[in-house]
Amino acid sequence: MESESRTSFQSLNKGIGVYNAKDKTLLMPQLYRFATHLMAAGFRGFGIKAQALETYKGLDFGKAHTSGKECLPCLITTGDILYYMQNEKRRLGENFNPDNYIYLMPESDGPCRFGMYNKYQRMVLDSFPELRRVRIGFITSINDYSFEGMIDGNKATDIRKTGYLSIVIGDVLDRLTCRIRPYEKERGLTDAFVEEAMHEMEDIFETYGDTTVLYDKVLDKLHGIIREAVQIIDHTIPRKPLVGIVGEIYLRAHDQANHDIIRVLEHHGAEVVNTSFAEWINYISYHRMREAKRGFVLSMKQLRLRKMIHYIKKVIAFKSNLVYEQYIQKRIYKSFRSFIDVAEDHHVSHLEDLLKQEDAFDFDIGTEACLSISGILSYARDRFNGVINVYPFTCMPGSVTTSIVRPLTSRLRIPYLDAPCDVSIQPGREAAIRTFMYQVYQHFKERERLTNNHIQGEKIVCA
Ligand code: SF4
Repeated sequence: MESESRTSFQSLNKGIGVYNAKDKTLLMPQLYRFATHLMAAGFRGFGIKAQALETYKGLDFGKAHTSGKECLPCLITTGDILYYMQNEKRRLGENFNPDNYIYLMPESDGPCRFGMYNKYQRMVLDSFPELRRVRIGFITSINDYSFEGMIDGNKATDIRKTGYLSIVIGDVLDRLTCRIRPYEKERGLTDAFVEEAMHEMEDIFETYGDTTVLYDKVLDKLHGIIREAVQIIDHTIPRKPLVGIVGEIYLRAHDQANHDIIRVLEHHGAEVVNTSFAEWINYISYHRMREAKRGFVLSMKQLRLRKMIHYIKKVIAFKSNLVYEQYIQKRIYKSFRSFIDVAEDHHVSHLEDLLKQEDAFDFDIGTEACLSISGILSYARDRFNGVINVYPFTCMPGSVTTSIVRPLTSRLRIPYLDAPCDVSIQPGREAAIRTFMYQVYQHFKERERLTNNHIQGEKIVCA
């Protein structure tokens, strides 16, 4: 593909918007692999030709069309869409029609750069004459990722619910993988098993995505998967030290971009729990509800009745989303925890309470730093033996988190590691992880010693 330089402020709003996806191919960048595949399948259940884009294969395109100052997820996703389009043009030849595609790049309002990815990518697509008519569709955190306008009639709420269910199930598959892989009877069993399980689950989402039986069908399949997964565990292997991952949402879940940090940690003897995708969605609903409450209080002080009604409607809408999300999430986790103790998710209001107790940060500031800092506090108070912050090099919330948590983690005496990532392998990464894992083992042994003493002490008291 030949690019022409063409810069214009039209890229800020032309060819980017909320488009009806009917009869179009909806291209979804991979954000949490399992969840993205399940979500695409769920959307196909609504008659949308959705598909998860392959990732990291177009890295050279990404590098060629960014300056190096953009965030790493922007570079990777730019490469992914160009790679897809190149292959599609080759496949279809003269029949290639850019009008048939919508590339979905969600956005959020400030203060970091995520809201600019789709504008930047518009400029990149515009630099290829044959891709100027490929549309970039978005859903936005401003309205709690509503699908209004992307789908016909009254299906916007239903498709959002299916999308959320796919996210929670994707999280469960991720956590299941991390729970069983360090204890598998034979190397490679877990990855092969979970890959197959994801495809089986995709079939369920595609077949029942737009039906009222979706939830029950998904839960039946999930329980079957979990029962089989438990057979993979070699129960003679003792429990390993537990490491929690927080950080930037794209990087922490993108194996290639974070240089396979979870497998590297497992190789050095850890069991890992990664922060879920659903936590971000719950946080956005919570954040919007807080904002609307603030707007309501302000308009009440100003005696502006219309504004008060406007904000109270918003409070109700965002609160309903949050209650629904947390209810579904809790029900799903509860339904299988008698089979296997996969880590449950953080409750967003609990995370805010933790920040307040430590006076460490404020939800009013926003961004992922709220969740990363509080997530670290939560891991430290729980049974974790170490925490890692994974983020793109130069990421603003990632750097804020680092600056705040270092003194906190040393006071809480929990090993902590920063893992900034870019496309090159960070020099010293392996050595840093080995050193970190040494500290994690010390922490693990100390916890075990204290627990044993405590149990013995209890026995003496009982005797
Ligand atoms: S969270 Fe970090 S990587 Fe993502 S857009 Fe913001 S600054 Fe960039």
